Amino acid sequence: MSGTMSEAKNEQVLIFDTTLRDGEQSPGCSMTTEEKLTMARALEELGVDILEAGFAIASEGDFAAISSIAQTVRGPRIASLARAKREDIDAAARSLEHANRARIHVFLASSDLHLEYKLRIGREQALEQTGEAVRYARTLADDVEFSPEDATRSDRNFLVEMVRVAVEAGATTINMPDTVGYTTPEEYGRLFREVRERVPAIDAQGVILSSHCHDDLGLAVANSLAAVQAGARQVECTINGIGERAGNAALEEIAANFFVRADYFQLHTGIQMKKLNAVSQTLRERISFGPSPNKAIVGANAFAHESGIHQHGMLANPLCYEIMTPESVGADSTHLVLGKHSGRAALRHRLDALGFALTAEELLEVYHRFVALADRKKNIYDQDLIGLLTARQREQRSGNMAAVD
Ligand code: MN
Repeated sequence: MSGTMSEAKNEQVLIFDTTLRDGEQSPGCSMTTEEKLTMARALEELGVDILEAGFAIASEGDFAAISSIAQTVRGPRIASLARAKREDIDAAARSLEHANRARIHVFLASSDLHLEYKLRIGREQALEQTGEAVRYARTLADDVEFSPEDATRSDRNFLVEMVRVAVEAGATTINMPDTVGYTTPEEYGRLFREVRERVPAIDAQGVILSSHCHDDLGLAVANSLAAVQAGARQVECTINGIGERAGNAALEEIAANFFVRADYFQLHTGIQMKKLNAVSQTLRERISFGPSPNKAIVGANAFAHESGIHQHGMLANPLCYEIMTPESVGADSTHLVLGKHSGRAALRHRLDALGFALTAEELLEVYHRFVALADRKKNIYDQDLIGLLTARQREQRSGNMAAVD
């Protein structure tokens, strides 16, 4: 049994990646088996602990992809999703036949909304089905995760009952998903504390609690971190935050929080931080969209600065405006973008790098011409800067120069 939160310091939080299941099932994110295999290998190198490879019964393609990932990707535990039905669980188990370490992930809705309108079953039947499905899955795998779908909109007493039944039936991980991105950090944390308290078998049997958050209100990462602070030791997330609707909690943001704020969380993950940008790139090349430029950690502007005050600070000491180095997450080095908000410090820095050493007076003249140009043009390239110099200044270029972009 793992220690309780208060006594345990710097424990590991398991990273459960669902890029290839929750992510892949969202619009514009379909991948072929070959593409999924490439992603799975990249996720293995990244150091994810559990890799959810798909939903075996959903299609032959899904089954084939899980099966080939299970055969070739040996590092992470491979998970296969199943509804709380025998035929789903059988398909999940078959897809994992060749896995080094396998997990069957069973889910059944716990909210009245889903039970009444989607499944058309009552609470009693849902509890029965939970127990049967988890017990059956345990005959096929020693590692079984159970998720009460829509946990955050479920009647609390009933949710606690369902979790108790799943734990008694042998579930080794209990995931309480915020399926529709509805909860808040404080509320989600309370949910985890309450379930832990009311189902003592969770701690007694060393069952791992897990978060699974969606970003409909922009809170997926904050909610996941709140769950961890309330005792969850597994976080379900995806690369670039892809997933149903507004997406899942972004893996790179979760990992970066534990990395940059290790002082605060006192927890760690097995993620190789320097590989984050490469994996993000591998995904964007295989689906129809990449992260927005202002996306944390992996966006094109995550380490770019244009304003004069920020650029001046960055040139004096990068810590002025950056809480992690771009290199630490595998991004290109800091980019000082020259635009109408830039000042003379950044202009001099770039001209120096290009090999043009100007006097203060010359720099001021060039700066006036630069500001006039930047007012008309959104992107200023090195060639534009060189165009602002006089012929004599251009001739005096030193041999020691940066490449022109
Ligand atoms: Mn989901």
